[in-house]
Amino acid sequence: MTSSAELFATAQKLMPGGVNSPVRAFGSVGGVPPFMVGAKGPYLHDADGNDYVDLVCSWGPALLGHAHPAIQDAVHAAVDRGLSFGASTPDEGKLAQLVMDRFGGVERMRMVSTGTEATMTAVRLARGYTGRDLIVKFAGCYHGHLDGLLAAAGSGLATLSLPGSAGVTAATAAETLVLPYNDPEAITAAFARHGDKIAAVITESAPCNMGVVTPEAGFNKFLSETTTAHGSLLILDEVLTGFRASDAGYWGLTGRTEGWVPDLYTFGKVIGGGLPAAALGGRAEVMDYLAPLGPVYQAGTLSGNPVAMAAGIAQLSHATDEVYAHIDEKSLALQGALADALTAAGVDYSIQVAGNLFSVAFGTSEHGVHNYAQAQGQEAYRYAPFFHQMLDSGVYLPPSVFEAWFISSAHDDAAMNKIFDALPGAARAAASAVPSA
Ligand SMILES: *Cc1c(COP(=O)(O)O)cnc(C)c1O
Repeated sequence: MTSSAELFATAQKLMPGGVNSPVRAFGSVGGVPPFMVGAKGPYLHDADGNDYVDLVCSWGPALLGHAHPAIQDAVHAAVDRGLSFGASTPDEGKLAQLVMDRFGGVERMRMVSTGTEATMTAVRLARGYTGRDLIVKFAGCYHGHLDGLLAAAGSGLATLSLPGSAGVTAATAAETLVLPYNDPEAITAAFARHGDKIAAVITESAPCNMGVVTPEAGFNKFLSETTTAHGSLLILDEVLTGFRASDAGYWGLTGRTEGWVPDLYTFGKVIGGGLPAAALGGRAEVMDYLAPLGPVYQAGTLSGNPVAMAAGIAQLSHATDEVYAHIDEKSLALQGALADALTAAGVDYSIQVAGNLFSVAFGTSEHGVHNYAQAQGQEAYRYAPFFHQMLDSGVYLPPSVFEAWFISSAHDDAAMNKIFDALPGAARAAASAVPSA
């Protein structure tokens, strides 16, 4: 069998950086990324014959663990019926209904293939509906790689220390106002100045792409009230948190009890069950501005692809209360073990939490992390040795400190114990890390 090292060397000749998505290249942690050849339950298997407990879960989609039998069966059955028809299919409505049953205020849906497409469409729709140009986003929030939202966009860029992206025109950047997160005064000030020009505020329902940052109590509600008061829209990006932080994403932990809904939601990751599916949804009056009913154009050759719909339906049908209870419980246990190990090793840290999603931030115990500036100010250099010690012990963490840790319902005691056993050594590696010159 070809080793990861050989595969990576070859890949670097074939693809920029050897990868098809930047964070996979291990840029911030260094070393050779293991090339994966299979996955089952909580485990990944690499080309060198190593097994890892997976705390990335495909960056979210593997809510039920890898190769869950119900999803595999649904996909096999869908494949047997044909791969893509270029016409409407019954399953698109079924998946839409499953989403509407969970999230308040979703009266219409449109299926797309990636989270980026979902947010791109939501932004265009907000502009088309309001007749306004400006979009407000928060520093450190990631909404996919559409030009207008790449300013201060968190993990991938933070990992590479890029402020934004080359190739984005000044005119495009000027149509996005970037505000500090968790700062209601900055929002009030922006609306006081530009209120009648702001088409929408887009926010991660809980930011997970600058590491996890907890929205302060009432923050999302405040965004909902402020946008409504000014005739602009709130786009709640649930691409990462949706169907994961709770049955109804992070909105399920906030809006559902606080009594508000956004104008538009974006979904991705979990909704596709591991295949490329994503969606936007929201108020009928806004959504019906999309073609063919309305003037805002949007389309997709593979949108609502039958195999992806089958995977998504199977995933959401099996994402029961028990699944969320299991993930919540394992998440708490892991946060506790991580805290114990870091404390014992004398490492200064905070654990940032949003529901069952969390991440570690080094050197931040005094204030925690409430915004992008604080996320970037942490002792990020402690993460690479921590990460590699975990990897050597058979635990696959996100290869960047600016990412959330993902647990699945397949993470059983054996898998959790393997993580717990690895933590003390990794904590000691973090303790002895020195900043690079
Ligand atoms: C991953 C992510 C996206 C982009 O989704 P892709 O499917 O990678 O295009 C958008 N928003 C958030 C919050 C995400 O985490």
